[in-house]
Amino acid sequence: DDSLSTVDPEVAAAVDAELRRQQSTLEMIASENFVPTAVLQAQGSVLTNKYAEGYPGRRYYGGCEHVDVIEQLAIDRVKALFGAEHANVQPHSGAQANAAAMVAVLQPGDTILGLDLAHGGHLTHGMRINFSGKLYNVVPYHVADDTGLVDMAEVRRLAHEHQPKLIVAGWSAYPRQLDFAEFRAIADEVGALLMVDMAHFAGLVAAGLHPNPVPHAQIVTTTTHKTLGGPRGGVILCTQDLAKKINSAVFPGQQGGPLEHVIAAKAVAFGIAAGEEFKERQQRTLDGARILAARLSEPDCADAGVKVLTGGTDVHLVLVDLVGSELDGKQAEDRLHDIGITVNRNAVPNDPRPPMVTSGLRIGTPALATRGFTAADFTEVADIIATALLPGFDQAVAATLRERAGLLAKKHPLYPDLG
Ligand code: PLP
Repeated sequence: DDSLSTVDPEVAAAVDAELRRQQSTLEMIASENFVPTAVLQAQGSVLTNKYAEGYPGRRYYGGCEHVDVIEQLAIDRVKALFGAEHANVQPHSGAQANAAAMVAVLQPGDTILGLDLAHGGHLTHGMRINFSGKLYNVVPYHVADDTGLVDMAEVRRLAHEHQPKLIVAGWSAYPRQLDFAEFRAIADEVGALLMVDMAHFAGLVAAGLHPNPVPHAQIVTTTTHKTLGGPRGGVILCTQDLAKKINSAVFPGQQGGPLEHVIAAKAVAFGIAAGEEFKERQQRTLDGARILAARLSEPDCADAGVKVLTGGTDVHLVLVDLVGSELDGKQAEDRLHDIGITVNRNAVPNDPRPPMVTSGLRIGTPALATRGFTAADFTEVADIIATALLPGFDQAVAATLRERAGLLAKKHPLYPDLG
């Protein structure tokens, strides 16, 4: 018997405990999701044994006839899903997709524009100690103080002033849609390329519930594990003229052997994302986020200093501003954790508190939608969260909320076949 539980009981026990945690709590980290069993099977397959440096039909190793089929399926499916001219499905992660994309079209020292991390951007969009901030001259743009929306007038002004080679549009914590056409117009005005990082909202795009950046941007990167609901990984889409540069920036530029087991799981996820059920799930994801935003905008929350940034959401997440409340981000995250709801604290624009504490929460609905949550279930979750953030929270209230959250988890069993 060489099963995990026999060979390594310590690791097996921790994996099992993590399964129980996922099953018994409500997962509302906006960047997380639950993959279907088919994805787990592909990712846990013998493909992990195979070296396949190169691309389908042009490998540096023998024995690639079957992984070629798999990688070509992934490429064809993701191109069709987003209407892209070219796709590279090899990046090991979203960060590596962004690194390869930038290396493909930039030289060290070139200027890029990206949304400030503190205003919802990602580390790879130019954070000081990330590769992007070290290699390139980063000019951050921001959300406007009054609206919380990306300040396109500032983007245009900074673009004309600093003449970037690349403008990065995309976010990790932003509750609205970006104007891709406007970003492209600005990029064209200054001769820059436009790269959209759609990691967070790719699933919504695939379902036709969010504008598609592909017709507007020369390069679109994404992760495959957020709203898209696949394995952890990255993808780069681009126009045909950039295909060679992008491919060689991924391999041999950034990576060696591709993770063909993950690429197989990506192919499965892209297949699922093209279906009607997926669309229905993304609609429930959006509905859930709107229900949550509405509940957290009610007078009891407003009176407690709990605010919804931008007053609502168009996507799969809600950003909660706690600057005026009795709780900081860490305390609010801990409170929700205590009642069985997992979220992450998140800096709000111009946050007065340090990054390890923050004054906000980012709450997402993709994982619960995948679990089958309906509008009625999201109404209940929203009320549990609102109640937890209000004054008067004590151990008795916590016990009641924990029970309500637990009932919802039981109502929508997760991975019942895994035990
Ligand atoms: N891009 C965006 C917008 C993200 O939000 C993230 C992850 O949070 C990434 C890229 C990086 O993805 P990964 O964690 O797979 O490196």
